[in-house]
Amino acid sequence: MPLCTILNLPLNKMMMENNDYLVTARAANDQIRAIAITSKNLVEEKRKLHNLSPIAGAAIGRLMSAALMMGDWLKNETDTLTIEIAGEGKLSHLTAVSNNKGEVRGYVSNPDVVLPPNASGHLNVGGAIGKGHMTIIRDLGLKTPYVSQLNLVSGEIAEDLTYYFAQSEQTPSAVGLGVHFDKETVEVNHAGGFIIQLMPNTNEETIVRLEENLKNIPSVTTMLEKNGDSPEKLLQEVLAGFDLVFEKKKDVRWKCNCNEERGERILTSLTRKELLEILDEGKPVEMNCSFCGKQYTYSLSEIRNILAKKGVVTNE
Ligand code: ZN
Repeated sequence: MPLCTILNLPLNKMMMENNDYLVTARAANDQIRAIAITSKNLVEEKRKLHNLSPIAGAAIGRLMSAALMMGDWLKNETDTLTIEIAGEGKLSHLTAVSNNKGEVRGYVSNPDVVLPPNASGHLNVGGAIGKGHMTIIRDLGLKTPYVSQLNLVSGEIAEDLTYYFAQSEQTPSAVGLGVHFDKETVEVNHAGGFIIQLMPNTNEETIVRLEENLKNIPSVTTMLEKNGDSPEKLLQEVLAGFDLVFEKKKDVRWKCNCNEERGERILTSLTRKELLEILDEGKPVEMNCSFCGKQYTYSLSEIRNILAKKGVVTNE
């Protein structure tokens, strides 16, 4: 083996290391609960998978970061949290699905949208999403999942979630989300966010001080950049002056749950007539996972097997 290959090994390993994680905390004598995340590796993984434009990457990166933080509040490992956005803008549909194991997957219907910057010179995520609504689905394994749907406030996602927490959960909250790209490589160099929530026992003084803090903090990605992508330091900055007590740290990652059986279930749900039409065409069926892009191929003999289970016997 050439020496350079051996020398490259640790470097490659280091580059593949996942440093994304979230932290939870309480502050001001339990008047405040807080959670923060650094998610640049998983957002970069999604960006690379579908060659996302910066605006598409920023939108889905913000959504996945929020979903991971909210997913941490789910009780059971099999529970899932889904945030869907349907907007009239060019990005159209976005979905992020998470759980409390720190896993997330995300989908953007139009990955190559490009728009000029907004009035403040930033990526115009709100403009790319446009008017529309946000749906939050908590599937706790019961007969019907909990579904909340609200109109979008700005399409900037953090603001929309703040509105959601106030309206649907009656919890005053502050949400910050951000994704930043390297200007030259277009790779994600910082991504993450925070959610601060006021508990019912919060006094007026705490509210006023928190509002003051929120007015004075820089953007999420600026805070991540100057603090080495540390969500702990992000919270220390947002909640400066409050007694911050960290509770836990948890690794988070991109993970798609697609598999061979998922496509089989879709094919099984087709009618006999539709399946026979596939056989007539004589070509194997190809299906792509809309989250990770992985391709699954189902041969004609697999289609015949599905038909046989439906009581239709066909000749090769
Ligand atoms: Zn997949």
